[in-house]
Amino acid sequence: MTFDDAAILAELDALRAADAPTHGGRVLSYVYDAGMPQLDELAAEAARRMQAVNGLDPTTFTSVAALERDVLAFALETLGGAAGTVTSGGTESCLLAVKTARDLWRAGGGSGIGRIVAPVTAHAAFRKAAELFDLRFDGVPVDPATGTLDASAITARLGDDVALVVVSAPSYPFAAMDPIADVAAACAASGISCHVDACIGGWILPFWPDDVPEWTLRVPGVTSLSADLHKYGYAPKGVSVLLHATRDRQRAQYFATTDWPGYPVVNPTLLGSKSAGALAAAWAIIRALGTDGFRDLAARTAQATHALSAAIGGIEGLRVVGSPTGPLLAVATDEQAAPDRRVDPHHWSDAARAAGWMLQQQPGLVQGDGTRLPHTTHLTVTPVTDAAALVPDLVAAADAARGVPPVDAEQVRQTLPAQLPATLDADTAGALLQGMGLGGGGALPEQMAPFLALVEALPHPVVERLLVELLARAVEP
Ligand SMILES: *Cc1c(COP(=O)(O)O)cnc(C)c1O
Repeated sequence: MTFDDAAILAELDALRAADAPTHGGRVLSYVYDAGMPQLDELAAEAARRMQAVNGLDPTTFTSVAALERDVLAFALETLGGAAGTVTSGGTESCLLAVKTARDLWRAGGGSGIGRIVAPVTAHAAFRKAAELFDLRFDGVPVDPATGTLDASAITARLGDDVALVVVSAPSYPFAAMDPIADVAAACAASGISCHVDACIGGWILPFWPDDVPEWTLRVPGVTSLSADLHKYGYAPKGVSVLLHATRDRQRAQYFATTDWPGYPVVNPTLLGSKSAGALAAAWAIIRALGTDGFRDLAARTAQATHALSAAIGGIEGLRVVGSPTGPLLAVATDEQAAPDRRVDPHHWSDAARAAGWMLQQQPGLVQGDGTRLPHTTHLTVTPVTDAAALVPDLVAAADAARGVPPVDAEQVRQTLPAQLPATLDADTAGALLQGMGLGGGGALPEQMAPFLALVEALPHPVVERLLVELLARAVEP
């Protein structure tokens, strides 16, 4: 059989050309570019050599065991803990942390619907875990001005029905470092599991040049920790680690059965057959960079973060939320400014987008205590973020947006029928999207501010259903 591989790959290249750029620092979320083409090549080559291997069985494919041992040795040395697993990503690490804690909680006598207690800023993966593993997510309000968590807000909610407490290092939305030592100590005193979600911070905070409060598995009371190698480990997507304080806790993560007539199934992860490509890529990157390489990249990232933070803090009408730790920050309207001098962060990021910079818009959120977290724009800074190029465009974008009032969500909502059915079927949801100008195969509008205002204004179940429809239609043939 012959095939025209050049034509097939040309078709793929044409599709890829329409993507947001994965390299060069123009997209300030999702992608983590070390700015080292040689490192990318090495990672790709390592992954390629594992292409035909099945990561399901490291006793048959012993290279998989060797690579995982090496990656875990580096992870445990850097982040503490006694045992761990390489997973397919942050969500899987978080899901497995919850499953493990739930099983240990049940083994300790827990029954009924247990709770996950976490700040509302904890990653949505923990809400997903609660749904999947029959737990209830109990979101604890954070300070609405700074996004920071008070440890006592967590400890006040501890009880026999708590299967797991989650804190972040740092939180994704606001880069807030949760009070990990205080929360973990309280958990230890009550015999409750405490997970540190360092999916985003785990591979950069250990090398960060500024002082960071203790947050690893070396903190007494921390029982597990997640850290994504496909973020600041600069690996291709599909690799993270979940570490545990003790071997026995890690063993509770496994699923094992001999109760069927096929091969004995013994899985530490959610998947069965799986790729070892991203594992090999991460392994090669760790080999190549070593601690010094990670430190250099963190230093570059820190420099860009400080420059951006100072510049944005100096823009009239905007403010950086709280005191961000690590390479992220969130930007909100400065309510201290006179109304006609304020800058709406979503109009601002729409203007920056027109100049070729993709910043991530985050909706506001009313917390359980009635306080409102402002809508913000998020920036994830990487080693290639060029603050000198970005800052003038951010200043110009603010000048363009200054004094423009935020989108009136109520007005946007009125473009929808007043009475929405309680449950939307695919046709109705599709028609609503069409009416909103969002019918076009997954492409989002140039101006995202009205879209985000709608996300904030609609009842959550309705907007969640509409977003499901939008994403489902994006991939429907
Ligand atoms: C990215 C992230 C996750 C989820 O990770 P995925 O790799 O996207 O599945 C969880 N927690 C935090 C803090 C994150 O930044």
